[in-house]
Amino acid sequence: MVARPRPNETHTYRTFWSDLANGSITVQVCDICEVPLAYGTLICADHGDKSISFREAAKSAKVITRTRIERHPHPILDQETPYTIGVVQEEHYGAQIYCRIDEGCGLDCDEVELTTATFGDDVTLIVATSKPKVDS
Ligand SMILES: [Zn+2]
Repeated sequence: MVARPRPNETHTYRTFWSDLANGSITVQVCDICEVPLAYGTLICADHGDKSISFREAAKSAKVITRTRIERHPHPILDQETPYTIGVVQEEHYGAQIYCRIDEGCGLDCDEVELTTATFGDDVTLIVATSKPKVDS
């Protein structure tokens, strides 16, 4: 079976993928300065310290950028086209998270909720969905 391309599965990434498979979206945060770090970072650039832990991300986020994918050279991803990917900034730590952006979240949709979805090849990814509208 053809596997979906994804980042390597070193110790750090393994934690990320196993958290995601359990429906938990985590970000790496420096324990001293509480700054979010890119996945796979081993040392905080500000402290030179290895005190880094995975923390639960906020459910709310803002869309920073998005790209519509119409065709993809990888067979699994091409089957899923068209779809939208993007970068969102989660509200608690300010971590920037790469994710799918749900079809129901149009171009005027900037406020999103982060959730997970498991795709046909059993891989769980982060998906940003429209925040439910509050009736007034
Ligand atoms: Zn730090």
